This record gives sequence, C-alpha cells and structure tokens, in this order.
Amino acid sequence: MSSRAATLLFERNKDAWLAGLLNFLRFPTISTLSEHADAMQRCVEWIRDRLVEAGLQAEILATGGHPAVFADTGPVVGAPTFLVYGHYDVQPVGDLNLWQSPPFEPTIRDGAIYARGSADDKGQVMIHLAALRCWKDTGTTWPVRVKLLIEGEEEIGSKHLAGLIESNREKLACDYVLISDTAKLDADTPALTCSTRGLVYKEITVRGPSHDLHSGVYGGAVANPANVLATIIASLHDEHRRVTIPGFYDDVAQLSAEERRTLASCGISDADLLAATGSRAPYGEEGFSSAERCGVRPTLDVNGMVSGFTGEGSATIIPAAASAKISMRLVAYQEPDKISAAFDEAVRRAAPPVVQLTIATRSTCGAYLCPPDSPGMQMARQALAEGFGREPVLAHEGGTLPILPLFKKVLGADSLLMGFAMPNCNLHSPNEFFHVRDFELGVRSILRFIEIAGDSVR
Ligand SMILES: [Zn+2]
Repeated sequence: MSSRAATLLFERNKDAWLAGLLNFLRFPTISTLSEHADAMQRCVEWIRDRLVEAGLQAEILATGGHPAVFADTGPVVGAPTFLVYGHYDVQPVGDLNLWQSPPFEPTIRDGAIYARGSADDKGQVMIHLAALRCWKDTGTTWPVRVKLLIEGEEEIGSKHLAGLIESNREKLACDYVLISDTAKLDADTPALTCSTRGLVYKEITVRGPSHDLHSGVYGGAVANPANVLATIIASLHDEHRRVTIPGFYDDVAQLSAEERRTLASCGISDADLLAATGSRAPYGEEGFSSAERCGVRPTLDVNGMVSGFTGEGSATIIPAAASAKISMRLVAYQEPDKISAAFDEAVRRAAPPVVQLTIATRSTCGAYLCPPDSPGMQMARQALAEGFGREPVLAHEGGTLPILPLFKKVLGADSLLMGFAMPNCNLHSPNEFFHVRDFELGVRSILRFIEIAGDSVR
C-alpha cells in the first residue's frame, strides 16, 4: 500500500513537518488589515514553494485582492480529479492579553499547537501539503489528479472567489472539491459534514408620521410604526412556532428515520444547548428536537430592531419609523429567491396600507447538501474510518458556507468536508489551537483517501 509507505515517511519526518507548520503559522496573514499585505504575499509564495517541492505545478493567481495559489499534479488518465480548497488568511487576534502565548508565535502545550490560524485553516491546509509531498517521496505515480486552490480572503467573505472560479473554470475543473476546514465530532470521532444552511437576510422599515409625535396628543389616532413592526414580526410565526410565510416549507425534505436517529445520537443535546446558550429551556419549532432545529430545519429570526426613544428615562413619543433586520436560515431544496419573494409578500400583506413599508434584501445564499451515498462521500467515509480507526458521523452544519453552492454551480462539483479540528478549538477566539495528533490523523486519512480514490477506478 502506497499510503502506508507515505504515512511511514511522514512519521519518520514528523518533527520536520511540525516545524514546517509552525513556520506557516508565523505569517501574520490577517486579511482584513491592509498592513499585513506583505505577510500575505510572503505566505502565498511559501505555500507555492511547498507545492513545487511536492512535485506539483504551482502558480500564484492574482484576484484583485489578496492572491490565491493554484497547483496541479497534472492529468492522470482514467482517474478522478479532486480540487483541495482551503485558505491561508486568518481572523484578527482580538485582545492580546487574552492569549496565553502570542498568536503568531506558535507554541506547543499539552500536545496542542496554539496560534491564530492553527485550526482555521493553516493546520488543515498543511495536512494536504504534507500528504502530497510524502506521497511523491514514495516514488509512486499519482493515483488521482489533485488540484489545490488556497485563497487569502475567506475570512473577509471570499470577495473575489466567484470571479476567480468563473474565469478559471477549465483550470479548476474537478469531480469533487475536498475541504478540510471543519471539526471532528469529538477527540476520537471523525465527522463528515454533509450539509450547510442557506441564508436570506432582510431589512424592513416601517414609516408613519413625518416626525416623532407627542404620544398624549396624537397617540391612538395615527399608525405607530413600532406597533406595526411588532405586529408584522409576530405574524411571521404561529403558535406552534412554525414560520407562517406561505410556501416556506414547500420544498423542505422530510427527515428520514435514519437521519433522525443520526441527529439524535450525534447532534447537540438539550443539555449542551442550554450550557452553550445560557437559555432556560429549548424553544423552537414544535415536533423537532434541538439537534434538528440547529441543523436541518429552516428558521426565521429577528437579528435587530430599532425604533423611537431608547435612552435613559422616558420620552412619551410616537416614533416616525421602525426597522428590523431579519435572517432566515434555509435548508436543502429551498430556493433563496422564492423564499425572499414569499417573505416580501407576507410582510406587505401584514402591514396596514397607511404606513410606508420598504423591504431590502441584504444577502441571499443557497443551502448545500452533498448526497451522503455519492461515491465521493463513500470514499471520504472509508478514508476517515481507516485513518481514525472509527466510523465518521454525518454532520449537519447550521451555518452558511457560500463557497459550497458556488463550487456546485460553477464547477458542477460536490464538496467533501473532511475536517480535523477539535469542536472547541477556539475558532476566531483567543488561544486557537490544533492538536498535533489531529495533524497526524489528518495526514493519514488524506493519504488513505488518495489511495482509495485511485483504487475506485481500477
Ligand atoms: Zn476557515
């Protein structure tokens, strides 16, 4: 087995690989701060050089913002092509006093590497760099074609990624996208993330009188925008806490008995929900568990409301306007444009004609679902099971990852989300960490994946 030979090579040079990862982590690649542009450039060149060492053709792609690096093993006749996507930019560090060791001076404590970007996403990108180099060093030919696209703007919304993918459609063509930027279930259990939710974000504004009014003189005689806004919002859920927008649930798939069983055993428990949120009791759509509500059911939530007098003491006014920001998390098969239009229609119908209503759409993004029984998912499942010595769980991500529907739309490729970080790895927070052991388990699993995928076509 070539993956075994490559894994042995990795283990023999583990200290050097770890030192390489620490070098990677020393680049202060905070994409949102322009003063780090030089570090971004040096880091992208560093990645390119590692990929060239691993025997790939590698180049830096200009994007109009921070550059990306692209690399390719070259064609492998009759074998599938995988595009590894990752990012080398990181979140800002926040309050330095809260870090036990400086964010860009990686420090190993109790088997964990502490540094900004260790888990998100440099440690996980390094897994792929190491796996490819170790495979090459066994002297065996590539069993599959591997391409990589490592970008530098993920933490600022991947501003230039859509344009980059569209203008490099041929170059990036692949059967599957492979992403290591998610977490395991727990220390010993790998996870394959198979779905993410979509998002429709709205801002509604209700305007009534031309200016704030005296509530004693005019109250009760004109429409109060704050009252009207509250009525509109209240009308969007029924007493079973279901969204009342006509057609909202039309395209939502029924949960199968197996999905419900999986979520019951792997999804968030009520106890964990209460501990994480500080809430008194679970609360949500009737007939569904907390795990189902957090991952595979659509939602509608007010994110903020502004109106009238909110200062100290009291001011007896009828406000001239009221506004709210509302987000809807969508699940597979719900069309963002259809939901967006249905929302506007429902809100208009709930508003009395005497007020002036404006509805703005701030962002829309589809949900994503990778069919769990697809050949790629089966390969990923087997590779993780053999890498960890334990079957992975299928995870449903409640958040939104716009790149997944983007890859599907432009490249026609599904994404396999094989992540190796701990669920509590302090993502975007002080003291972000990545376990040395997970770096090793990652390399082992990715090497198995390359081999299994190669075997699948023989
Ligand atoms: Zn990330």
